[in-house]
Amino acid sequence: MSKIVMNHGAGGEIMQEFLSKHILSHFPKAGADVPLDAMDDSAVVDGIVFTIDGHTVDPLIFPGGDIGRISVSGTVNDISVMGAVPMAIACSVIMEEGLEIEIVDKIMESMGKTSRECGVPIVTGDTKVMGSGALDKMVITTSAIGRRSELLDNDLRIASEYRKVKDRWCTDSNLAPGDVIIASGTLGDHGVALLSFREGYGFESEIQSDVAPLNKMIAEGLRAGGIVSMKDPTRGGLANTLNEWCSKSHVEIEIEQTSVPLREGVVSACDLLGIDPLSIGNEGKAIIGCVPNMAEDVLKAIKNTPEGRNAAIIGTVKEGRERVIMRTEIGGRRILEPPSGDPVPRIC
Ligand code: MG
Repeated sequence: MSKIVMNHGAGGEIMQEFLSKHILSHFPKAGADVPLDAMDDSAVVDGIVFTIDGHTVDPLIFPGGDIGRISVSGTVNDISVMGAVPMAIACSVIMEEGLEIEIVDKIMESMGKTSRECGVPIVTGDTKVMGSGALDKMVITTSAIGRRSELLDNDLRIASEYRKVKDRWCTDSNLAPGDVIIASGTLGDHGVALLSFREGYGFESEIQSDVAPLNKMIAEGLRAGGIVSMKDPTRGGLANTLNEWCSKSHVEIEIEQTSVPLREGVVSACDLLGIDPLSIGNEGKAIIGCVPNMAEDVLKAIKNTPEGRNAAIIGTVKEGRERVIMRTEIGGRRILEPPSGDPVPRIC
């Protein structure tokens, strides 16, 4: 009898396959503007943008954040990257018997603080307790609804001045050859901060998690106009995001290795640990695809926000095979494979 392994939840190809075969296949097909089988950041049903995330990060509190901040940020970001405004959050908190109430208070305080920071209220929820040993301390599940951003119609109108735009939302399938890819900041910070803290490697003094709500940064990008696709590169990192875009938009993406923003500490930590910073999860970054004529304007708008100050143009969309090509520092070309799973388990 085959059993669940960690990679079934690790955000890479193994998880995608598992979801299609063992989860989506059992659910009835529902009519939606962005349906379940699009496997995008959120669904869109009758104009309502809707998403949900489970959070199992270990440890609950880590350098730069905690499970409460991730819960609010991750859900707000999944709504925002569709081109929507998050309106309200629901949360379910499941706790293990024996967990210190002081820790619960700390995490809930952080959820409240993040909710105030992004301006999205938590309006409904549920709590349960499981017996000691039946659950590892705490699991938080957050869901949110959002509405179409007032900025999105104008954003897509600007994009369609330059080329035909297929989708009405910033979906994974909306890219076309010529589009420019922007990363909103340094990649790999969250995964490396967590791994280092957990394993005691000591890099965490210089690398903190990037966990943050991005709705305000994304609004500024939409205001500039010309954005067609957005995604938060969580599990599986940039490599997973770009490969998903290639297969859903039927395009090739070419990335310039030297243009990808990476902290020095992340590069040296990844070298030492033998992991790829482009396959590791982020919790406060967005990858943005926009029409070429608007790329500089979008970049400038993003860079003007605190969350996007390290943003950079990292590549372009090409006609070609559904794959990601990375032009290396020394001028070579290699395929950036989709990760089979995130190299670091339980980081979100
Ligand atoms: Mg997402």
